[in-house]
Amino acid sequence: MLLGLLFMAASAPASANGQTTHAWISVHALAHLPPGELRDLLTREDLEPYLLNGTMFPDGGYAVGDDYGERAHWEPFQSAYLGWIRGQHDAPYDDEGAQHVAFLMGLASHGLADQVFDAMYMERSKTHDAALGWAEGESMDEATDVVYAQRVGPREPPEEWFPGAVFVSLFAEAQGYTVNEETMSEGMFWLSVAIAGVGVLSEQEDVVAEYERQFPWASAHLTDATVPGSPPCEGELVALYWQALWARLQGEDGFGERPYLGNAPADGAMGWPTTASHPDALLHVVVSRGLAPSSVSDTSVVVTDEAGQDVPVTVRVFYGEASHVLNIAPASGAWAADTDYTVDVPPGLLSFDGAAIESAHRFSFSTRPPPEPTPEPIKEAPGGCGGGAAAGLVVFGLSARRRRARPAHSAAASGKV
Ligand SMILES: [Zn+2]
Repeated sequence: MLLGLLFMAASAPASANGQTTHAWISVHALAHLPPGELRDLLTREDLEPYLLNGTMFPDGGYAVGDDYGERAHWEPFQSAYLGWIRGQHDAPYDDEGAQHVAFLMGLASHGLADQVFDAMYMERSKTHDAALGWAEGESMDEATDVVYAQRVGPREPPEEWFPGAVFVSLFAEAQGYTVNEETMSEGMFWLSVAIAGVGVLSEQEDVVAEYERQFPWASAHLTDATVPGSPPCEGELVALYWQALWARLQGEDGFGERPYLGNAPADGAMGWPTTASHPDALLHVVVSRGLAPSSVSDTSVVVTDEAGQDVPVTVRVFYGEASHVLNIAPASGAWAADTDYTVDVPPGLLSFDGAAIESAHRFSFSTRPPPEPTPEPIKEAPGGCGGGAAAGLVVFGLSARRRRARPAHSAAASGKV
């Protein structure tokens, strides 16, 4: 029975794992929303199924081998949906517009979570767990989903809902892509199977132990808010992203009031690792709209040491077109030991659809040991995502499903949006 379940969760729906943790991220990101209309709306009990269905939806395409899912991960499609909602429904959404807003926020949670998790957490796991799960060809997404379900409890799939007719039209009009409602419904079905299957697996001690053996580092840090890209870290960023999208629903067309959602390390972090060849030393900046990589170069981020000298860096838009995360590494090979650094992002980054960030962003970090040294200095960074909220207050779930590669046929790449 166990093997059958493993097969069902891991293989039958080709990519249908990670759903449990995706759901946890959305539910717990709600706790990071400030009081106000958005929180009032998204915490409405009757809207939870819409938020959860939206959170699941993108991975359904993998389960049935249809590209609608990959497309639904990204802001070009999500922005088309946002534009449709803007045209059809007005705040405070006391009609069915509320269902669409909740579904949109679910999609957005999923997309940003995948990007943040992969850019930060997966990159670190690839080194820490290199000799085990990665060398063995195992799936970190699947392992972390089951382990996380064991940590925070299994989930039940919501009753299926998605905006079928609207999406058939939007995929066709905004992306020139044909998909029918039956295909999307089949995808949703397999995601529900995955949630149920992962829930069962997470209660099998030997199964959880095997996944922990495969990915010991990734398994050990899932609930650690101070590790960049961990579920608590992601919850903070998703809540901030939701606020940016809320402003866009009300008519904001630029990056909004908070173009920079966060950074890692958190401002003022001490004891940051020095070695560039090790991903623990990576810096990250997350922005509120998908970026145009053509607007990003190695001078898009300026790092200065305590003597005021520029420190050359490499700047990479993780996943490229329409992605939200910049990964920054020292070009020389390492940060200097016992040194304070300032990181500046000048104005000028552009979104995939031409909006510009008009403000600068700054944070600092240091490779000096923290006042009370610990064996794992990375944990000394308060709030690894840099979102500003106190770290470790809430335990979240995390997205495990990730894209294998950026498709060449994304809407942005094909110029359709
Ligand atoms: Zn995904």
